[in-house]
Amino acid sequence: MLETHGKSAHTELAGSLASEVKKFVDEIIIPNEPQLAQDGDSSSALQAELTEKARSAGLWGLFYPLSHGGKIASLEDYLIVAEQEGRTEFSQAIFGSHSALDAHMLLKFGSDEVRKNFLEPMVKGKAIASYGMTEPEHGGSFPSLITTSAQLANGNWTINGRKWFVCNTDRATFVTVLARTAGENVAIHKALSMIIVPTNAEGFKVERQISMMGRSLGQGEMSFTNVQVPEHNILSCSGSGIALMGQRLNIGRLLRSMNWVGLAQRCFDLMGARINSERGLSARLPDKQLVRQHMVNTYQAITSARELIRVAARGVDAQRANDVEINVAKMAASQALCMASDAAMQLYGAEGISDLTPLSGIYRIARTTRILDGSDESLTSSVGRKLIDCYKDGGVYHFD
Ligand SMILES: Cc1cc2nc3c(=O)[nH]c(=O)nc-3n(C[C@H](O)[C@H](O)[C@H](O)COP(=O)(O)OP(=O)(O)OC[C@H]3O[C@@H](n4cnc5c(N)ncnc54)[C@H](O)[C@@H]3O)c2cc1C
Repeated sequence: MLETHGKSAHTELAGSLASEVKKFVDEIIIPNEPQLAQDGDSSSALQAELTEKARSAGLWGLFYPLSHGGKIASLEDYLIVAEQEGRTEFSQAIFGSHSALDAHMLLKFGSDEVRKNFLEPMVKGKAIASYGMTEPEHGGSFPSLITTSAQLANGNWTINGRKWFVCNTDRATFVTVLARTAGENVAIHKALSMIIVPTNAEGFKVERQISMMGRSLGQGEMSFTNVQVPEHNILSCSGSGIALMGQRLNIGRLLRSMNWVGLAQRCFDLMGARINSERGLSARLPDKQLVRQHMVNTYQAITSARELIRVAARGVDAQRANDVEINVAKMAASQALCMASDAAMQLYGAEGISDLTPLSGIYRIARTTRILDGSDESLTSSVGRKLIDCYKDGGVYHFD
């Protein structure tokens, strides 16, 4: 799905962009984290200011398609940049990386009108994407239960339904809606479609914002009441929703995992610094075996997740996406972040639980990763089934 070219030059470019991103995160974003963590207008204004700085520094939208301002084409190359971006929980909007997946989807599957009306403004920073799949009435793990409907008549889709936990509900200018475009007698892999809805369309409403463990992370609930959009707002063709969802999740899970591994590294750094701080040294923390074990376990989790992501990314780059590799990488990155944030909190004692360090915010993000983009259980279940099926009729799983 991704454009690729000249490998070694790009790997080198990724290395230098990763250094620049690291410097930007350390010097410009991290000192502002306490303000960015506040709900309200002043943190939005600060985020906009930092986004502008990232754009001026040439660090915005690095994984957008090359034809639309991106600088890195391969997921494997992007890993070292994305993990640096991910070292702060506030990076996605500031570096524009939250829209990279939508940019690739719209470029590949959008009509000329979709590219002109949504993709072009988005890559210029003048439009914000969101993706509406999960519904209040049914488990998000089961797309076959989706009831939001889209019916085509006289050149327009009419959309009715409700979506919740949609990221960027507070700021999106358009939503890619996963809707049912065929009756219940049609097989699910032909019954759903993705349709773009501008959030200023008549009948679209943001019902409410939904905070996560005490803080707004941008998710909310939205409704569609007889919303009309032109026929060409569909991605690919009618009935392709499940296939597009698969493509979206393959890349989306890896992009998020890269950020999570970066956030886990931040926790690891915080943990190392605390152990070696005056306070840690006075308690002789470097000499304690259980403290050493936290460091070793976390190091192992982070490096294993990075390599699993690298292997899965290489497969996607080579047009042979393997959902066993992708889903295991996603779970490993999530586990690394959960372990790292928990261990770091533990070593910071009461301060770690408080809001005096970034750890409580990171811990909140970590907890969402076990549900977001597929719960641990649903991914384990589907990966387990696939691995077992490889051995049907005397077959084997090929690790290469
Ligand atoms: C931070 C965050 C951001 C999100 N952003 C978006 C977004 O932008 N757009 C969007 O549409 N949605 C979004 N979501 C929703 C997300 O996609 C869903 O939460 C996810 O798909 C799971 O669906 P659910 O919450 O309805 O849980 P359910 O499907 O109801 O599952 C609940 C639980 O049931 C169990 N379970 C489910 N399947 C299995 C199985 N096969 N085997 C065993 N147990 C199982 C698991 O314990 C699971 O956690 C977001 C969620 C979070 C937390």
